[in-house]
Amino acid sequence: MSKGFFIDTTRCIACKACQVACKNWNRLPAEQTKNQGDLQNPPDFTFTTYKLVRMNEEIVDDKVNWLFFPDQCRHCLIPPCLLWAQNTEAIYQDENTGAVVYTAKTQGLKAEDIIGVCPYDVPRRGKDGFLAKCTMCNDRVKNGMEPACVKTCPTGTLNFGDLEEMRQMADERLKKVKLTYPDARLLDSDDVRVIFLTAFAPEKYHTHAAAFDAQHWKAR
Ligand code: SF4
Ligand code: SF4
Repeated sequence: MSKGFFIDTTRCIACKACQVACKNWNRLPAEQTKNQGDLQNPPDFTFTTYKLVRMNEEIVDDKVNWLFFPDQCRHCLIPPCLLWAQNTEAIYQDENTGAVVYTAKTQGLKAEDIIGVCPYDVPRRGKDGFLAKCTMCNDRVKNGMEPACVKTCPTGTLNFGDLEEMRQMADERLKKVKLTYPDARLLDSDDVRVIFLTAFAPEKYHTHAAAFDAQHWKAR
């Protein structure tokens, strides 16, 4: 059954439990980082960081807002990275779950092209030439478990299930959130399996939070 996420950023408290759970399940090492004078750590996705809570301080309506965005691959319905690679041994879409999966064969791909074609700036290249990103925890999901990040989220920000159920959950929650935040919206919900709800315009959270030229990349 086709799977999806609903990520309600209005519930996120930036505890980073999802970031840690992702590292733990995927056996990814911690990053050596430097103090940059803010709370963003690590500063961006890397070859060994598939889940990243982006933290942005924004003044909206004369008030300081902490905007948290637990970023990850959107597992696009028509994935530009997969279309561009044209190599299903390197990048394939699981026919049951819909997860977009990268394999060891990504070492043969031109990394800059794959990274450049992703509308959400997600994949990252390791020193050995492999590309990596969120796997949807496809190994867990195929064994009836939730993704590790969803399992550990204590606030209900991260939700996972059948894609249609996630779409309904997102629509219902949006109606409620709009009563408090009239600018609230779902990001690219017709194009992705990872549906984000934001209280404000997506660019206030992150440059690549939404794909503004979705029609362009869909047509490629
Ligand atoms: Fe590929 Fe980027 Fe879409 Fe993920 S978000 S499936 S990496 S194009
Ligand atoms: Fe990491 Fe799995 Fe969550 Fe993807 S689904 S961000 S691989 S824990």
